[in-house]
Amino acid sequence: MKKVLILGSTGSIGCQALDIIRENSDKFSAVGLSCRSRVDNLIMQIREFRPEAVCVGNAEDAQRVREEFPELNVYYGDEGLIEIAKMDCDIVLNSLMGISGLAPTYQAISMGRDIALANKETLVTGGKIVTDLCREKGVKLLPVDSEHSAIFQCLEGNKEREIKRILLTASGGPFRGRSLESLSDVTVEQALNHPKWSMGSKITIDSATMMNKGLEVIEAKWLFDVPGERIDIHVHPQSIVHSMVEFCDTSVIAQMGLPDMRIPISLALNYPERLDYSGESLDFFTVGKELTFEKPDRKVFKCIDLAYNALEEGGSYPVVMNGANEELVAMFLAGMITFTDIPNTIERVMELHKPSKAETVEEILAIDRESRVMARKLVRR
Ligand code: MN
Repeated sequence: MKKVLILGSTGSIGCQALDIIRENSDKFSAVGLSCRSRVDNLIMQIREFRPEAVCVGNAEDAQRVREEFPELNVYYGDEGLIEIAKMDCDIVLNSLMGISGLAPTYQAISMGRDIALANKETLVTGGKIVTDLCREKGVKLLPVDSEHSAIFQCLEGNKEREIKRILLTASGGPFRGRSLESLSDVTVEQALNHPKWSMGSKITIDSATMMNKGLEVIEAKWLFDVPGERIDIHVHPQSIVHSMVEFCDTSVIAQMGLPDMRIPISLALNYPERLDYSGESLDFFTVGKELTFEKPDRKVFKCIDLAYNALEEGGSYPVVMNGANEELVAMFLAGMITFTDIPNTIERVMELHKPSKAETVEEILAIDRESRVMARKLVRR
């Protein structure tokens, strides 16, 4: 029986992970759960899965949960996430949103727990310290992001072989093919209407700006130790090929499947074995009849180059880019700025940034806070 701690259990990935645990209750138990704001959903999850510990967003919610479940360990807030990350378990599924995932992941790795990572911002902001600590502690970092799970699967049995390049696929998001001018007045609703994947609102906006793909380039660099210039984005609107790896002999291996996050989640939870799944099979005679690939439009989707530049500069730059992006996406969702304000302001924040040390979780979180303040200031002007 594998004991699973799910950070972010009421989000899209967390709920799908609990579906998998429910259907495989002989293999997994959910020993810890967390939510930020959907405490009603969490309470239903506690009733069903009977975890030993939970973490909620604030003190009032913690009090409410304690009253209903007196025997449960209840934590709250950012500190609570670090505390619950210390609990006894075999694997931590991190499906938190944004940089809030960094400190609890780092804590869980230091405890020697394997990590199923759905929170790419952990590696974007703390890639070096996180992967160093994984090596030191002998911890497995298992990607849940569909593209990175694909690359991971392409590398199985090929670990010692030289990678020529990673072909990172992208759906292109809801605005594929649009001109830059036509993006200035898109609405929040249009940006949230993703053609292929149903996800949380932050990552859906990141997909619309294609910052999501930029973040994934940085994530791939840290997971697979391949430099940015050998990671090529391929826009593939059908979302059937989830990514590919080309080896030194030019042989290309791809991983394919219907767009369904349960596949990467279940592989990460049950690694190295695969789990049975009664989902629909990929039928190449219908859905795979036309698989197309095109270059991303880097002039329209400026976030791609911002991310490659941040990776190239290294150090604090990816932290600054990520912090500004998180802040600006929240402002766009709140109706405070336009869609094109997102890339334009990130660019300005990065130009104004003076490189600083980003070698501890505390330093990284401090840089993150500064970049958010800077982004807000630039928007007000
Ligand atoms: Mn992805």
